[in-house]
Amino acid sequence: MTQNKYKILLVEDEINIRNLVATVLETEGYQTVHASKCKTAKMLFASYMPDLVILDLGLPDADGMELLRHVRTDSLIPVIVLSARSNEADKVQALDAGANDYITKPFGSAELLARVRATLRNNRFSCAEGRLPGGRFTLRELEIDYDARLVYLEGKEIHLTQTEYNIVALLSENCGKMMTYAAIIKAIWGSGAGEGNIKKLQVNMANIRRKLGDKPGQSNYIVNELGVGYRLSE
Ligand code: CA
Repeated sequence: MTQNKYKILLVEDEINIRNLVATVLETEGYQTVHASKCKTAKMLFASYMPDLVILDLGLPDADGMELLRHVRTDSLIPVIVLSARSNEADKVQALDAGANDYITKPFGSAELLARVRATLRNNRFSCAEGRLPGGRFTLRELEIDYDARLVYLEGKEIHLTQTEYNIVALLSENCGKMMTYAAIIKAIWGSGAGEGNIKKLQVNMANIRRKLGDKPGQSNYIVNELGVGYRLSE
């Protein structure tokens, strides 16, 4: 087993899930410490100084959101929320409260590790790996020239409206991170996520995804989770 430098605080009261997650992480060399209650997690967060928190929202002594808010009062330590599939509203609330990402239960170990890697990487470099000198971003065949505000796919320029470009640029700056409807709408139009604005975003997204050649069921650039938001996929 190789030790890597990351320490992960795992907050989960269901012992089977906690053991599974811990085993998967430790096999990859992550160091983990566990809490099953919000109160213990707060103490461990202060004493253990983790690089990442994996947080179940349903804890016996408090809502996991309380720990998320506690973490966010004075730190940007990344938090991945564990959430049940049916709770879109919980995911949105957690992301908007500063969670970096979420994993839906039940999940596979490959997905868990991919999310952990992406979150740690994004947090450390803000996707600097994708950004090349000269204000460029590359992801597979997708390339963005931030200075010229141009987007290329397989070397060919694709024609986006100003709004479409702004959305693609925003997603690329948060590459790998799930962006909620509210977060995108606020960044692009400076307004709230009312029904009209969500519709406007969906229309723009449909156009962007068509121009990027994204089709359902393929490995696409932009992933949509209905009721939650969009992610530029790594
Ligand atoms: Ca729970």
